[in-house]
Amino acid sequence: MRPSLLNPLFAPVTGLPGVGPKIAKLLDKLVGESGTGARVLDLLFHLPYATIDRRSRAKIAEAPFDRVVLIEARVVEHRAPGPRSKAPYKVLVEDETGDVLLVFFLANPQWIEKSLPVGETRWISGKLELWDGHRQIVHPDRVLDAEGLSRMQAVEPVYGLTEGLQPRVLGKAISAALERLPDLPEWHTQAIAKLPAPPSFAAALHALHQPENPEAIAPTAPARVRLAHDELLAHQLALALTRERLRRATGRAMLGDGSRAEKILATVPFKLTPAQTRALAEIRADLASSSRMLRLLQGDVGSGKTVVALLAMTGVVEAGRQAALMAPTELLARQHYDALAKYAESAGLKTALLTGRSAERAPMLAALADGDIDIAIGTHALFQERVAFRDLGLAVVDEQHRFGVHQRLALGAKGEAVDILVMTATPIPRSLVLTYFGDMDVSTLGEKPPGRQPIETRALPLERIGEVTARLSRALAAGSRAYWVCPLVEESEAIDVAAAEERCAALKEIFGDKVGLLHGRMNSEERDRAMQAFAAGKTQILVATTVIEVGVDVPEANIMVIEHAERFGLAQLHQLRGRVGRGKVKSSCLLLYKSPLGETAKARIAILRDTEDGFRIAEEDLRLRGEGDVLGTKQSGMPGFKMARLDVHGDLLKLAHEEARHILVANPRLEGEQGKALLLLLHLFEREAAVKLLQAG
Ligand code: ADP
Ligand code: MG
Repeated sequence: MRPSLLNPLFAPVTGLPGVGPKIAKLLDKLVGESGTGARVLDLLFHLPYATIDRRSRAKIAEAPFDRVVLIEARVVEHRAPGPRSKAPYKVLVEDETGDVLLVFFLANPQWIEKSLPVGETRWISGKLELWDGHRQIVHPDRVLDAEGLSRMQAVEPVYGLTEGLQPRVLGKAISAALERLPDLPEWHTQAIAKLPAPPSFAAALHALHQPENPEAIAPTAPARVRLAHDELLAHQLALALTRERLRRATGRAMLGDGSRAEKILATVPFKLTPAQTRALAEIRADLASSSRMLRLLQGDVGSGKTVVALLAMTGVVEAGRQAALMAPTELLARQHYDALAKYAESAGLKTALLTGRSAERAPMLAALADGDIDIAIGTHALFQERVAFRDLGLAVVDEQHRFGVHQRLALGAKGEAVDILVMTATPIPRSLVLTYFGDMDVSTLGEKPPGRQPIETRALPLERIGEVTARLSRALAAGSRAYWVCPLVEESEAIDVAAAEERCAALKEIFGDKVGLLHGRMNSEERDRAMQAFAAGKTQILVATTVIEVGVDVPEANIMVIEHAERFGLAQLHQLRGRVGRGKVKSSCLLLYKSPLGETAKARIAILRDTEDGFRIAEEDLRLRGEGDVLGTKQSGMPGFKMARLDVHGDLLKLAHEEARHILVANPRLEGEQGKALLLLLHLFEREAAVKLLQAG
């Protein structure tokens, strides 16, 4: 239950004065979370990214050009255009030092006459320009009389907008939202006190939406720091509570005799690498202990996490329990199933694939509940309410950071004392591990299986696409298989698909039916068929959208072409490249880019050419992204965070982590005044799953 003190903040924006259905719709689009309409709190968390400073009040002759200025001037004359003229409406104003022409295109003359009466003095704000030897302001953004001036914000916040939403309308809605903001009890204890003069939560929001000067909204300003710290504390607290809860439910020692694992090891066509052996030993030690496992297995693409997961699951099955492996997409679940089932079954383990679309769901669910299935592989469908296990002992979650804390909780609840192993293929910089996962134990596969050859990475401008197809044609004749990844078009899967279809058609002109197509709009059978044709070598080029980004494994594929590489992020390019270089044959990656390249894109490509070390790439990615995009409405660049930016607030993360730990030691059930305040914090940052955990005992 949400504390009623917060109700005004979680109310829909439609309750704000001046926000009708039309504006509400725009606000939903701007700040609404998917599925729910915009709420007052969402508006308050929509922070300005810049300011207009109107404090400089100069005489006309001294006012600086090309900046927003505020001048006090007398209206001299109106120069209305002729009735059918397209010329602008002009108004001449002056003070004792000089004059300025106010220029209005497509203006409403009545409005101009009313707000700029000849002979009167007005305060006018706008960008002053020199045009044709004359001072002018095109479309002044403020024309105020003395009373209006007294109400004007001297430093005006500038917000990210959405089409059709006027800045003034948004500003009004935000002002109204600020009035709904109650004073909340302080939740920070000693930690925040180490920071300079922390404003209260409410004061911080006021300071950001009504900045006193441009510096007041900087990411390093006290108000921003305060909110970032709040968000990180809420996050760390939720993680700590989750972890606490999972640990408290004591695990059960469960580790078999290793007999079936032996069989699997005898069947797989390779020997485990030392890193795999080490990780497996760590996992087995966790399984054998009676406290609950919460472990992150991280390793670069192609480092061989899957077999480690299989052997971990086998250990649990040997001990008479069940295991589940959850993948983020159906394609990946299927692929895991294809890769694992044959080995598992060679050791007598019964496996099943359970997705949202599984045809034989009913019998499968019965088999799971009866314990006739040892290992279930699937998507999040695995953890729906109706799915019951006889005795789930281990849940493995692949590609974790697509899932939130919530899903992990759902997982842990599927059995009694379920151990959890999280696998991530995007190596996460050390600084980020804490953010995403809290203090989980970590096993790292720091080396790749032997025999891999370095991937030759080259960048070419799109105009040289002919060379690429020529090269492909030679390679295909020699038996190569290639992925061709088509540009990612932000916001439109439909355009993605069209681009892939077009490329596929063009390549078919050259390579005929050796070309296959795979994209997100295909149904699972179609995707399967495309994947299988490629895996079997029936098609040799697979044109795809980024659906192949995560996890797809066809060891024979040795060429990766990425079209419009400049549109992809570094981590994504690394993931895509990781689809090749998995076999013994030499692999190459061709990055086709549209020139001229921007600085960031250039840097990305240089890093990729330079290294295949996923950890280094991840660190560089963070650095580049941190520096990029300051203007966007999404200010964080860090998934799931609204206020905190890791490049700026990274140090706060540690602080929040420590603080959360302190709090829970002193007050594990969040009781008393401070506990109440902390519950508010958890709600404000949507960590109510953690609150539920607390309340469930
Ligand atoms: P990822 O860590 O990206 O999930 P996978 O588990 O898909 O990597 O493994 C990548 C490829 O390496 C697979 O084809 C797998 O069979 C192979 N592989 C895994 N372990 C080894 C090993 N020890 N020696 C050789 N090949 C291995
Ligand atoms: Mg994998």
